[in-house]
Amino acid sequence: MHIVVCVKMVPDTTQVKIDPITNTLIREGVPFITNPFDGPAVEEALKIKDKYGGKVTVISMGPPMADSVIRKAIAMGADEGILLSDRVFGGADTLATSKVLAHAILEVSKKEPVDIIMCGKQTIDGDTAQVGPGIATRLGFNQATLVDKIISLDLERKKIVVRRKQDEWHEIIEVTLPILLTIERDANKPRYPSVPRRIFSEEISIPVWNNYFMKLDLNSIGLNGSATTVKRIFAPEKQQGEIYAEDENGNGVGTLVGVIIKKLEEWKIRSIQNG
Ligand SMILES: Cc1cc2nc3c(=O)[nH]c(=O)nc-3n(C[C@H](O)[C@H](O)[C@H](O)COP(=O)(O)OP(=O)(O)OC[C@H]3O[C@@H](n4cnc5c(N)ncnc54)[C@H](O)[C@@H]3O)c2cc1C
Repeated sequence: MHIVVCVKMVPDTTQVKIDPITNTLIREGVPFITNPFDGPAVEEALKIKDKYGGKVTVISMGPPMADSVIRKAIAMGADEGILLSDRVFGGADTLATSKVLAHAILEVSKKEPVDIIMCGKQTIDGDTAQVGPGIATRLGFNQATLVDKIISLDLERKKIVVRRKQDEWHEIIEVTLPILLTIERDANKPRYPSVPRRIFSEEISIPVWNNYFMKLDLNSIGLNGSATTVKRIFAPEKQQGEIYAEDENGNGVGTLVGVIIKKLEEWKIRSIQNG
């Protein structure tokens, strides 16, 4: 059983600011973290490895410092990691990102065929949820998205039964391997790495694959290979609200119900006047 998990380094979104001139993220001084959906994906892979044996390989595409998210997954228990990093991969949209990741997985599977690929359901920065399905489509893998539980795995029949989380209900499906799963954030609580694993993860060398190694057509990767362009990034304007409150003696605005009724009447009159 060989499982590949894709993990992405993302800015901690509570700290993100946007440059109003260039419309790009201000990255300086922003802490980076593992995409919160990807920890549960690693955990699901490790749970399978714990039960059935096998190997877990972690892959990330990003700048050199993205090796930190790979090391974190190795600290949790993953066996190996590969960082896909090259300036020509930069500026990629989901099409170009899934192309590079799919190609790397194909390369990895030459050595050891891949049975399951795990991705987070989505990221907290790009937020598209397109990369997982993009990888599966390129590799011709079956796919099950929005998975919040792996119910069973039958290695002989090459079947996996998973639970998919919908808005109002759950769906249980059986799918044939090889498969790509996208994992929900609340699927599990990722395990806490032990001290020896943490030390191991700091010491292990993470191979970096650039495009000299991957030999992808420069027109199909990075900015050149992206079908979409970000025209503008902005935070929506905050709605101006009005706050009414009585003081501690009950004086001031009267009862709040009275204020709301008065406001509604004012809005009604204004909308009649405005036609
Ligand atoms: C024109 C354009 C330019 C862009 N330029 C940049 C840029 O310069 N820098 C930048 O950071 N972003 C850039 N982006 C955003 C970029 O498209 C996304 O970061 C990337 O494609 C992943 O999409 P997502 O975050 O929506 O992933 P989702 O589809 O929401 O992610 C789902 C899952 O896929 C996997 N995954 C996604 N991305 C990666 C990855 N890189 N490595 C490993 N696993 C992954 C993870 O398991 C993740 O949980 C650009 C987008 C566009 C349209």
